[in-house]
Amino acid sequence: MILPIVAYGAPILRTVAKDITPDHPGLAKLIEDMWETMYASNGVGLAAPQINRDIRLFVMDSSQIFENLDDDEEGKYPDAPGIKQVFINAHIKSLNGEEWAYNEGCLSIPKIREDVYRSEEVTLEYVDEQFVPHTKTFNGITARVILHEYDHIEGKLFIDYLKPLKKRMLKGKLDDISKGKVRVDYKMTFQK
Ligand code: ZN
Repeated sequence: MILPIVAYGAPILRTVAKDITPDHPGLAKLIEDMWETMYASNGVGLAAPQINRDIRLFVMDSSQIFENLDDDEEGKYPDAPGIKQVFINAHIKSLNGEEWAYNEGCLSIPKIREDVYRSEEVTLEYVDEQFVPHTKTFNGITARVILHEYDHIEGKLFIDYLKPLKKRMLKGKLDDISKGKVRVDYKMTFQK
């Protein structure tokens, strides 16, 4: 089932999400719906707060980015050909490497894309769909997507990293998004 995506302006996007237990009601179906919703909206990641749940859950598929890269770009990233994974109860252990810029967008903030600096490498603890614990390090585009989605479960958005002037320039557009004055080709819900 495709779920509506919560637009910028809703308080859920500013909530620090909570860890869940294996008996969380309807978890398998929720994950299935999140994959369906993410692919239907051409996203490369989707976090639970974006579908109105305050839980530490996100799905991501960085392989989609690699599929769309030119051949000469592919060698630039150490994590080719990307990964597809579910992250539950993720907590960052460490951030390493140099910060680098990448042009990011967000399904909750349609039609705005900006360069955001993030660490090259992230090590995090999480459990998978079977609640098997992992501690893993990711880099490249994969780390980029993970860090963007991780921010969602911490109540942060990529626009938080922009310089004050840039933010002021975007204010009108952001206000429009929160009021539903934006055209998107996927289902969204607005705070009104
Ligand atoms: Zn996002």
